Amino acid sequence: MSSKVHSFPFPVKEQAIDDLLRDVCIRKINEKDYSEIIDTAWNIGVKAAVELKSKHTLPYDFKKIATQEGLIIIDKDKDYIVGNTRYFSEFISGQSEITMYKKSISFWAETHQLEYATAYNYILAHEYFHFLEWNHLGLTSRKFQVPMIKLGQWSFGKTGIKAMSEIGANAFVHELFLGGKL
Ligand SMILES: [Zn+2]
Repeated sequence: MSSKVHSFPFPVKEQAIDDLLRDVCIRKINEKDYSEIIDTAWNIGVKAAVELKSKHTLPYDFKKIATQEGLIIIDKDKDYIVGNTRYFSEFISGQSEITMYKKSISFWAETHQLEYATAYNYILAHEYFHFLEWNHLGLTSRKFQVPMIKLGQWSFGKTGIKAMSEIGANAFVHELFLGGKL
């Protein structure tokens, strides 16, 4: 089981580098690999969106789509802030459960000048991508591996890059709702 809460950038590819630079593994990643990592993750999100589009008709209502897939959506009337970060939603894979923090989402909607329902749907779609990763696609974060521990020229173990999952989820939302235009 994995629980994942996070802040939520607007889903455009230009943000992907910021996601990557914030990753805990960033110092182990070679700068020359940044664009390959971003492209790999972004393309996975786009591909998943294209597949979803082939199965569902507009408008993509993620409350309906997610519920049909057996996901439980819990709405909490809460502005969820920890330290300096506001969290909008949380996906718990083992329980196929998504929690949506409604007051946080209203702030996000206002910041990006979106209707609340639209913002809610974008954020739920983002979380739905994580559900797809866990249940169908495999984790995007594992598509590029970096050494877990690096001591001089020696590397031990391998770990994925969590930011890739976020980049994939943002690409998924972008492709579905923003017409796939950059
Ligand atoms: Zn996410």
